[in-house]
Amino acid sequence: MSRRAINFNAGPAALPLPALERARDELLDIGGTGMSILEHSHRGKTYEAVHDEALSLARSLLGVPDTHEVLLLQGGASQQFAMVPMNLMAGRRADYVLTGAWGEKAYAEARIVGETRLACSTKNEAGSYTRVPRAGEWSVDPQAAYVHITTNETIHGVQWHALPETGPVPLVCDASSDVLSRPIDVSRIGLLYAGAQKNLGPAGVVLVVVRKDLLARCPGSVPVIFRYATHAEHRSLYNTAPTFGIYLLRNVLAWVAAEGGAEGMARRNVRKAEALYGVIDEHAGFYRCPIERDSRSWMNVVFRLPDEKLEAQFIAQAREQADIVGLQGHRSVGGIRVSMYNAIEPAQVDVLVDFMRQFVRRHG
Ligand SMILES: *Cc1c(COP(=O)(O)O)cnc(C)c1O
Repeated sequence: MSRRAINFNAGPAALPLPALERARDELLDIGGTGMSILEHSHRGKTYEAVHDEALSLARSLLGVPDTHEVLLLQGGASQQFAMVPMNLMAGRRADYVLTGAWGEKAYAEARIVGETRLACSTKNEAGSYTRVPRAGEWSVDPQAAYVHITTNETIHGVQWHALPETGPVPLVCDASSDVLSRPIDVSRIGLLYAGAQKNLGPAGVVLVVVRKDLLARCPGSVPVIFRYATHAEHRSLYNTAPTFGIYLLRNVLAWVAAEGGAEGMARRNVRKAEALYGVIDEHAGFYRCPIERDSRSWMNVVFRLPDEKLEAQFIAQAREQADIVGLQGHRSVGGIRVSMYNAIEPAQVDVLVDFMRQFVRRHG
């Protein structure tokens, strides 16, 4: 078997081995058709079965009620920064809550499309983000078209651990980096979007879950390709779908189902988060996590060492001694970031934790 590194990359990120092995085994001939899934028509029976299975697995694993559509689109989560306001503003003002860099980007894009309000930002005096808003710190404009949050800020390591109450105003969630990491109540969400390359599969696919009554909001001035309604009407086959990406996403979702679904993922993810934050807190004079406890991300764990030289050594030695890659913090914030999406095994986090204990013994 070929070597597999312990890959804590932020995205594209590690994929579950069984999903990759299945793709390898089927790559040249899927289902005895004598063709790769890459070579099948998106209108043919073989691909359509994969496509429908991907949609139905997404629906069942996320617990999507009949009131909502499940869509598989392209253009990355960044395209959703534009599509959300194009489809949902309908001449009204939208509220944005910022808890990190991705929310800032979504907000900037929405401001190009229409009127927005910064409902809340937790950016601190140092220009960084270390928490989600506290209860009572912000409120929703009851007239708002929607309220946008980023459920997990991938760069800053800040996660909402409970969805905010927005009353009748639809809640829009960028869940790119924590979708399906634990159960959520989709009935409380107006629209959820998630780029696949963190928790769901390869880059090139975006999952969108949208409440059906919101589809009609889209004005006629929006090009057909950018309307959610178009993709809903065509079961996400309006134009050529990203077939290989959806095939791999299907493999990943089948793996999630076999591992106990969203509850199974939550059990794994809690265990991983407890192990990693545990070693950080145990050596709090050496490793320092700037994120407030109730906002600490289960998916992207950010922390600092006493200085940048030690951080560089930490990254280099992790690679040399334990075959661990992907620990470099985002270039905009520095430090260390451990991205441990669903596919990361608890045992892989244990290897990192052991390395961290040894490192602090040598350098602390
Ligand atoms: C990665 C990420 C994005 C951007 O995704 P693209 O597919 O590169 O557009 C947006 N939001 C969040 C929360 C992310 O983690």
